[in-house]
Amino acid sequence: MDDRLQRELAAWLEFYRELGFEDFYRRVPVAAEPGTPANARPHEAAPLAAVAKMPTEVPPVVAAVSGGRPAPAPAVPGRQPAGGVPGHSGDVTVHTPAKPWSSTVASPRLMAPINLPPRSFSLFEAPPPVRGSETLEQIREDLGDCHRCRLAAGRKTIVFGQGNPHAELVFVGEGPGADEDEQGLPFVGRAGKLLNRMIEFIGLKREDVYICNVVKCRPPLNRTPEHDEIEACSPFLYRQIEAIKPRLLCCLGAPAVRTVLGIKEGITKIRGRFYDFGGAKALATVHPAYILRNPREEKILREDFEKIRDFLKKT
Ligand code: URA
Repeated sequence: MDDRLQRELAAWLEFYRELGFEDFYRRVPVAAEPGTPANARPHEAAPLAAVAKMPTEVPPVVAAVSGGRPAPAPAVPGRQPAGGVPGHSGDVTVHTPAKPWSSTVASPRLMAPINLPPRSFSLFEAPPPVRGSETLEQIREDLGDCHRCRLAAGRKTIVFGQGNPHAELVFVGEGPGADEDEQGLPFVGRAGKLLNRMIEFIGLKREDVYICNVVKCRPPLNRTPEHDEIEACSPFLYRQIEAIKPRLLCCLGAPAVRTVLGIKEGITKIRGRFYDFGGAKALATVHPAYILRNPREEKILREDFEKIRDFLKKT
């Protein structure tokens, strides 16, 4: 479908949604999980893992209808998602939990309903751009003075992300802490110092990479971000990743792994492996804050960073 048709379709879908019609294209049968309320609609009831199995044939533009909504998008040119089956190939684990940034199911979460602010365009205005053509600046602008979740109430600053907009390597952490909230920059506290050290350990500079988080506002008392907060914020993360098109994503800690890869297994089990992520790879490792609490484990981080270094050198 050409661009103009896609935009028209998006506008019509938006029009019907504003009239209150269901998102019929999202309704796909998903096996109910234990604990699912009997009257839940399939897409509300679906646990993330089940949602990840949903078909992905909805055209990307459909998800692009809304303002802050993820609309994972086509693809890095020339990088098609690997349709993978679980298993290993060499030292690369082919996991493919979803097609992270090349279809409407950018992440297992993306099919779940998200409470969005009212959409900001009407049929008579141009709909938002089809994803894939966005810059980080545009995404930041769209994020605005975000109040999409309750974290806004306690933050001082939105920590959008920092670094090279064309980085080959992107780090995804959990969420800003006190220092980050103060300065508006990711990983500038103690964990950040350790991350900087690791980046230098593999022969890179902080300016070479891009660093961001699953959520952009500091959770109170640095608690782990909650599901709905991640749901509200992660579309912007996916769009950032899509704009940067890195070769490798490094997920720092479990919340990043769950958000980016949809993997719920413990980080110690899955760390140090490469996963398919669209046309790129993703590697999970422990969060630097974990190493600050368990300094004897630093070798884990070093080992994983050596893999990052080798990957970037090799490919
Ligand atoms: N921890 C994170 O996960 N992110 C930051 O930005 C800082 C600390």
